[in-house]
Amino acid sequence: MSDWQVAVIGAGPGGYAAAIRCAQLGMKTVCIDQFTDANDQPSLGGTCLNVGCIPSKALLEDSHFYHKIKQGHSAFDIPSVSVDLGRLQERKQAVVSRLCKGISQLLQGNGVHAITARAQLTRAGEILLDNGQSLSAKHIILATGSIPIEIPPAPFDHTRILDSTDALSLTAVPPRLAIIGAGAIGLELGSIWGRLGSEVTILEALPDFLPTLDRDIARIAQRPLQQEGLNIQLGCRVQAATVKKDQVEVCWEHETGTEKQLFDKVIVAVGRRAATDTLLAPDCGLELDNKGQIPVDDYCHTELDNIWAIGDIVRGPMLAHKATEEGVMVAERIAGEQTAVNYDLIPSVIYTHPEIATVGKSETQCKSESIDCHSSSFSFAANGRALAADESIGKVKLVGEKIQSGTAGIEGTRILGCQVVGPSAAEIVQQAAIAMEFGALAEDLALTTFSHPTISECLHEAALDLCGHPLHQLKKPKR
Ligand code: FAD
Ligand code: NAD
Repeated sequence: MSDWQVAVIGAGPGGYAAAIRCAQLGMKTVCIDQFTDANDQPSLGGTCLNVGCIPSKALLEDSHFYHKIKQGHSAFDIPSVSVDLGRLQERKQAVVSRLCKGISQLLQGNGVHAITARAQLTRAGEILLDNGQSLSAKHIILATGSIPIEIPPAPFDHTRILDSTDALSLTAVPPRLAIIGAGAIGLELGSIWGRLGSEVTILEALPDFLPTLDRDIARIAQRPLQQEGLNIQLGCRVQAATVKKDQVEVCWEHETGTEKQLFDKVIVAVGRRAATDTLLAPDCGLELDNKGQIPVDDYCHTELDNIWAIGDIVRGPMLAHKATEEGVMVAERIAGEQTAVNYDLIPSVIYTHPEIATVGKSETQCKSESIDCHSSSFSFAANGRALAADESIGKVKLVGEKIQSGTAGIEGTRILGCQVVGPSAAEIVQQAAIAMEFGALAEDLALTTFSHPTISECLHEAALDLCGHPLHQLKKPKR
């Protein structure tokens, strides 16, 4: 007889969601997490709440506000402004603490028992804690998340050569900052510190900016980021980052030669890897794949009966909402339900200014899959609300394919993907995701009444364009 019906290892957005849902479904559930805060207190919520999504968004919000005030306004006389970084960090920490306490209360309120410890799977049904105790559970859900990748030319010293966690807690603005990697973390952290006063150089290995985006969308996104002050260098191979007194000398190779520059800090943001180094005892019966992740099927079931794995430690995008949906799916499947995650419709957002958001397939992807697609778009520059807010950069793009729908054989345009750069990009893409999840056609969106004036009207206009009869664009109607 097991101590618990379900044991969850990890209390990030995957683990805590799984634990709550298991408890809601009547299972006796324990959730084990090792994370402690700067005061050595347990702090539930994983990477996302403690050192990821939430602290980064608090700093992005405040730094954007500061930058906007500093930029000024044609109608206002704004006295000089300065930033108190200490207070900014305090506000960030208050947001984090409040949310982490909230997770604690949610677990408690749902009857989940929380344990602070490092856990290891010793064999199916058995867990060993680093305090020497062990426990058993009928089902075990592994949800230990991910950690920053370290690269040999720039090993972390956490003082000058930083990971994302260090970079979210700086107590002074580094005058010259290098960031290795122009992915979500590099761009978000670059935006934060650039707005607060750093001169930021981003060194990206690939020749293309955000290569999974369609090129028209990537171009629109890159320009304003560069105008905001990010010096984005593509096709760079960092050869060495050497600490010299209180600076770091970074040497990199690019198409036309090598370059060497001194920076005050270097942030390495080249991706994350599964936190599985000590999770599995050698003879526990599970093995990692060549990326260090835990192999699972479409339902997050591992090769072992009753052992499940979710979130950043398994295949798929490393995103908080993906982890949460997997957690809920696994809990419901343990309870005998047939829940599934629609992996084709996981939205992704980079919270820069302008925001960059996508869901579904890009036009490039459709073409590479030989899908007979067509695309439409609507620019924020033609939207009243965006112009009123002085947020006219960017556009909404939809990709669709013509289909015969329903028994009546009505012709329509199935929406396959949405990419947005600009104001409220994340929210607009979410609306497209809902429409796609419900199998809506572009014609359904076109027939939906959107409030005026809203930024969302751009989605409406892009849908009208996809249907062939745009209203606020001078294009010849197709029918
Ligand atoms: P995690 O959140 O990593 O949680 C795993 C937990 O397990 C941690 O508390 C860890 O300490 C604990 N743990 C690990 N090993 C053990 C063990 N052996 N025993 C006990 N406990 C253990 N995603 C988004 O969707 N949107 C964003 O805006 C976003 N911003 C981000 C910004 C930054 C700077 C970073 C670093 C990440 C960001 N992410 C974002 C990614 C997001 O944080 C992760 O995808 C998400 O947290 C993964 O959730 P998880 O539950 O799989 O794991
Ligand atoms: P990433 O994979 O998004 O980007 C890493 C970038 O670094 C890539 O462009 C890659 O080409 C580049 N790179 C890799 N090795 C390099 C090298 N040696 N030199 C120069 N460039 C190199 O990874 P990330 O930005 O570190 O983020 C990690 C994970 O966290 C991602 O999966 C991301 O989805 C998630 N995250 C999400 C958000 C968000 O949703 N807003 C924010 C932050 C992080």
